[in-house]
Amino acid sequence: MVKASKLSAEQHRITQQCGTEPPFSGAYLDHHEVGVYCCIVCANKLFNSANKYDSGSGWPSFWQAVEDGKGIRSRTDSSHGMERVEILCGQCDAHLGHVFTDGPKPSGMRYCINSVSMNFLPALSEE
Ligand SMILES: [Zn+2]
Repeated sequence: MVKASKLSAEQHRITQQCGTEPPFSGAYLDHHEVGVYCCIVCANKLFNSANKYDSGSGWPSFWQAVEDGKGIRSRTDSSHGMERVEILCGQCDAHLGHVFTDGPKPSGMRYCINSVSMNFLPALSEE
């Protein structure tokens, strides 16, 4: 967990200014350990590794958030001439990424999240 005031320039740009990391660059893109992905700012639990999949988009992708959406919230993002749904941390409003409706079954959702916005917690260290 990183205090908001201690975020790196890149973490600050993405989580506080709705930035996006370059595709195929993120630390968690090709990451398959079992555990939970938490908010880099406030450590709120966001996504479970069991719900992660390879979408081919270039960003870590999940088809479901932890606790059925409790960890995150969404809002409409009309920037860049597109109508998208932005995903934010449900606790501190850090920008995480966007959600699209072309994900796999059963949810049909594709949560496309910046690696920079998350901190991975291996399952074993949770106890
Ligand atoms: Zn947060």
